[in-house]
Amino acid sequence: MDDVVDVAVVGAGPAGSAAALRVLQLRPDARVLLFDAAAFPRDKTCGDGIAAHALDLLDGLGVHGVSGLGPPVPRLRLRSPGGRVVDRACARPNRVVPRAVFDAELVGAAVARGARLRRHRVRRLEAGADRVLVDDFAAARVVIGADGANSVVRRLLGAPDPPPSTVAVAVRGYTPATPDPDALVIEFARGPYPAYAWSFPLPGGGANVGYGVFDRRGGGSRTELLAALRALLPGQEPDPATVRGHHLPLSTGPRHQPDGRVLLAGDAAALVNPLTGEGIFDALASGALAGRAALLGPAAGAAHRAAMHRAFRRHHAHAGLLARLLRHPRFLDAAVTAASRHQSVFDAAVDLGLGCGTAPAHALARVALSYATLSRTRGAVRVG
Ligand SMILES: Cc1cc2nc3c(=O)[nH]c(=O)nc-3n(C[C@H](O)[C@H](O)[C@H](O)COP(=O)(O)OP(=O)(O)OC[C@H]3O[C@@H](n4cnc5c(N)ncnc54)[C@H](O)[C@@H]3O)c2cc1C
Repeated sequence: MDDVVDVAVVGAGPAGSAAALRVLQLRPDARVLLFDAAAFPRDKTCGDGIAAHALDLLDGLGVHGVSGLGPPVPRLRLRSPGGRVVDRACARPNRVVPRAVFDAELVGAAVARGARLRRHRVRRLEAGADRVLVDDFAAARVVIGADGANSVVRRLLGAPDPPPSTVAVAVRGYTPATPDPDALVIEFARGPYPAYAWSFPLPGGGANVGYGVFDRRGGGSRTELLAALRALLPGQEPDPATVRGHHLPLSTGPRHQPDGRVLLAGDAAALVNPLTGEGIFDALASGALAGRAALLGPAAGAAHRAAMHRAFRRHHAHAGLLARLLRHPRFLDAAVTAASRHQSVFDAAVDLGLGCGTAPAHALARVALSYATLSRTRGAVRVG
């Protein structure tokens, strides 16, 4: 037990790999131990959408091969609950890469840089004066909890359970159909809670299809979620053997990062974008920040909390506000109308939904104008 590593990372998904990569980028001789319960390559229930913004972060971490894992998907097509459609090229193309491939590439890069990967499900941490014990057989100066939506580390840190309104639920599967190989397709549902179906074209044909509800109270059973998926994406039936469901801890939930030697990143820190369900960008960004803070020993917790606040505060405030507005379907109709008319509104929405962007005043003004116009039109129809 005298063998104390510098950083132990629990979970080798995007957040954990990014954390290990950043530690070793800053201190190539650091001893980094990466634990994962699964053997890689492993599947992860996901839409497999990799935003251009996430690739930027990987470039910054010195991982450059990922864009070659899936062809560029230039367009995004989105239909609002009221049937408004925006179909535009994104400023930079996104990618779709099955997580079995994407995550294995990242963890491979971390190992190539010097991290030690060990298959083990972590169950217990014990913080001492100068180290943290991991399940009584390993010790680290700092531990990073990057163990996903059901994070054990988060629970051990005493984080409160998120309210159901800040947790999304979703199912995904793989279909042989490829309706549009050049577009990420999103079809919003009509209903009491924001919800959408997606169809993301896979490299080599077929698509990742799924359906998610942005409020656990509206989730329903897997059968109900699949029925909603079928209704919105007819002809894109997923292979039943590939259908899996999971929940997503949204960034509108409570933040929790105590002082000390244990840090949280990615889904374990509840960072999923409440507008889109995108979480890989946030996992990479927070993992990289955790990796930097981890080199500060006992000051790591406070430093990570401050760095996360600086990096995400404005984005979370804007995304949280808009997520509340999205509960009104007419707001989404108006936003889609404005984005279909103005490239600048579309670009701002993409940065907000897939990266760390905010809602600029000019874009909000255009959405407000569309909202007023839609309200007048619908009012007139009702009166007539
Ligand atoms: C249906 C669905 C669709 C989604 N679609 C998209 C999308 O298209 N694009 C996008 O950007 N995001 C999407 N997301 C969100 C995205 O999947 C997550 O935000 C992202 O995977 C978070 O990365 P992470 O590294 O924090 O956690 P994970 O990717 O969950 O990785 C956690 C790792 O920790 C390991 N682990 C767990 N517990 C332990 C333990 N006790 N000990 C050791 N190891 C452990 C797991 O095996 C896993 O490898 C989707 C999510 C869902 C559920």
